[in-house]
Amino acid sequence: MRMTPFFPVRLALAVSVVAAGRAAAAFYGDPPDATHPWAIHDDNRPQPPRVEPGTPSSQEKPGIPPSDAVILFDGTEASLAKWIADKAPEEATKWVVKDGSFQCVPGAGYVRTREEMGDMQLHIEWSAPAKVEGSSQGRGNSGIFPMGLVEVQVLDNYNNPTYADGFAGSVYGVNPPMANALHAPGTWQVCDIVFRRPLFDGDKEIDPGSLTVFMNGVLVQQDTPLEGGGGHRGRSKPRAFPEKGPLKLQDHGNPVRYRNIWYRPLPKRAAEGGDTSHMSAEATARKKVEIAQSIREDAAKQTGKNQALRYLESLCYAADAGAMTAATSWINGWLAECKSLPVNALEERKGDVMQVNNAVNYLMKNSFLPAAYPARAELETLIKTRGWDKK
Ligand code: MG
Repeated sequence: MRMTPFFPVRLALAVSVVAAGRAAAAFYGDPPDATHPWAIHDDNRPQPPRVEPGTPSSQEKPGIPPSDAVILFDGTEASLAKWIADKAPEEATKWVVKDGSFQCVPGAGYVRTREEMGDMQLHIEWSAPAKVEGSSQGRGNSGIFPMGLVEVQVLDNYNNPTYADGFAGSVYGVNPPMANALHAPGTWQVCDIVFRRPLFDGDKEIDPGSLTVFMNGVLVQQDTPLEGGGGHRGRSKPRAFPEKGPLKLQDHGNPVRYRNIWYRPLPKRAAEGGDTSHMSAEATARKKVEIAQSIREDAAKQTGKNQALRYLESLCYAADAGAMTAATSWINGWLAECKSLPVNALEERKGDVMQVNNAVNYLMKNSFLPAAYPARAELETLIKTRGWDKK
């Protein structure tokens, strides 16, 4: 019985948020600042792009990739055209498509994608041979190389110890996985990777790059710095990567199989000009001018109160005498009109007056309007006279 009132309350809350729309979001959260081009809860911030999610894989069947994934191998012979031997000059790979999987043929050498990519979310499934042969690094060894420059180790470590930084799911030669979450050999291991390349400004490292890896849904690497990419025996040193490179898969002498390979390119980080929340002062200033411009273009298409509020809103991103004058001139004219209205007609404007007052207060509090903004006192007097400041 006590639960029954809960649902109507939740529903009412949801409806009020939707009904409030953009008017409630402007002049609401903390404004843009020197390193954040958007306000908190800013409706001017672009909506996230829609992606239709895919489905998970089962042992019997690979899942469906999300709608924006770039498919690198889908089980068909046709997708073999996306791969070539990792050799120069270019030649076809001797790896084979068998029973819907892409299989390493020992001695054929690495394969690489024709396509080149940089930062990405990569999904790839692998299966070590069901027939167990060899031990340590000799059992079911292959490798997944984003940009061809750093290896996420593929190895049959099911009841097969090896050096920790060469374990399945390791960033090879850099960092062991946090856990061994492998299925038995012969079954499919589902590997999800988030790769960020190192960023350099000349010789200066801005971001070491990172790998995050989930093995069968278990987190085994979290933002592991690349330290230059690792390798066999030698300790690698931080270094710049190019913008893009092919994905490579390793031939380490074992017939490891792959399936359901796809990736999604990732947006730029703030350090390389991306629009994430915390940006450099220069990038923030540029972005704020861009946002202000777009709001003013929208304001120009509107009229009356909505236009004035949009012009005022634009001042939160970049000062502009034209926008200030247009908004102030409308507010002054409208307030003069309000004062001449009979009480009944004025009551009908209460919502508008409170909305304009809220906007002016917000802008003054955050120093986007001058401390002596004449309309402020007029609004205050009007509100007090009508008793609108009391509940
Ligand atoms: Mg390997």
